[in-house]
Amino acid sequence: MNKQKKFNKQRFSIVLLVILIIVLTIFFPFKKTKKTIPSLKEIENKTFDSKNEIYEINIEYPFFYNEETDEIIDDYLYKLVLLTKQSKEKVSLNINYELFNIEENTYLVFNINKSDDSYLKYKSFLLKDREIIDYNSIFNIAELKTKTLKYFKNRYSSTIYKQVGDLNFKKVDYLINKDEIIIYFYDLKTDKMSYVPTMVFNINDINIKKEITFGKKYEFDSIKQDKYIALTFDDGPSDVTTNILDILENYDAHVTFFSLGNRMNRYKDTIKREVSLGHMVASHTYSHKDLTTLSEEGILDQLNSTNTTFDKITGDKITLLRPPYGHYDNFVLETVETPLILWNIDPKDWYYLDHKKIADIVIKKAFDGGIVIFHDLYAETKESLKIILPELTHQGYKFVTIEEMAEIYGIELKKGRVYRYIQ
Ligand code: ZN
Repeated sequence: MNKQKKFNKQRFSIVLLVILIIVLTIFFPFKKTKKTIPSLKEIENKTFDSKNEIYEINIEYPFFYNEETDEIIDDYLYKLVLLTKQSKEKVSLNINYELFNIEENTYLVFNINKSDDSYLKYKSFLLKDREIIDYNSIFNIAELKTKTLKYFKNRYSSTIYKQVGDLNFKKVDYLINKDEIIIYFYDLKTDKMSYVPTMVFNINDINIKKEITFGKKYEFDSIKQDKYIALTFDDGPSDVTTNILDILENYDAHVTFFSLGNRMNRYKDTIKREVSLGHMVASHTYSHKDLTTLSEEGILDQLNSTNTTFDKITGDKITLLRPPYGHYDNFVLETVETPLILWNIDPKDWYYLDHKKIADIVIKKAFDGGIVIFHDLYAETKESLKIILPELTHQGYKFVTIEEMAEIYGIELKKGRVYRYIQ
């Protein structure tokens, strides 16, 4: 008998099981569908081009199909376009972008290349589900602000320090690089400043909330573009020079010493050490004479006796001259056998005798191709280097001799010519 009943019972169980599976599948999907991350496929790549005799604009940008996001990006780009179109001199603006995924976030970076502004390079946005969000979800912004202020104190003027303190760090420009996070303080750039203050955090020194896969993709090479500055020291050597050499060594800095011939013998060892460390030793005349007041014989005597002294100490030749007081005239130029090197950044160390003030001026005025005049006579000058060297290194500067700078920029220094800039 029960065979039929048993079969029915079995069939019933199977039907029930199937129904259960169907119900479960509908209400509790086995695989949760992933939240949409805007991927390149779903984002439209748009371009904007405009050109006349003065400007040329080429922009590539993503369109997210999100009203608010697209408007923010649009506004940002439009400002740059306007600024470019208002230019009175020939200018080009090229912008393209890259998208990366950081967990469920999208990281958008614009690479900006404006021919008249070498500082404007990157603008980044963090998005989640196509909406722009602040960086707080990746790292602790309050922590970054505290650390920035701590770093900026005593390094930058109190005006800058205060401005940074007033900034909303959710709105500043971050660039996530392979193993660092860089903040650009573009808004602090004023006419008085020739650089954009930046803050670089090593990824290991800050608290990351979200794991970030730092693939090779994340490296923005051009950020580390080297800048070159030539520090020069006049009127030495002196007892201070040795200490200066010690500091320079810590930063792998090469500099140029425009030394006085009549001090060289007293500081033979210093001169030898300067040369052996890769610095350049050049002439500042024998006894600091204003060359424009001398006869041909007088000029040659000032130069030759310095050359001979240097040659006897090192076996090397002197190839550059810095005329005392920066004074020269046509007669001087016709008489000398070397190029004349002047300067374009003067912190007036001899006048201020205040290491913070000296450092402040040099840091504010520093630029790629800068030639700074110091005097290796004062302890305050030496002290200022302890601020200048780390800060400019942090800003990406390399310290080179005048000769190295000429080589880097492909400039041939010619005798009887005056160089205030080597670029
Ligand atoms: Zn001098």
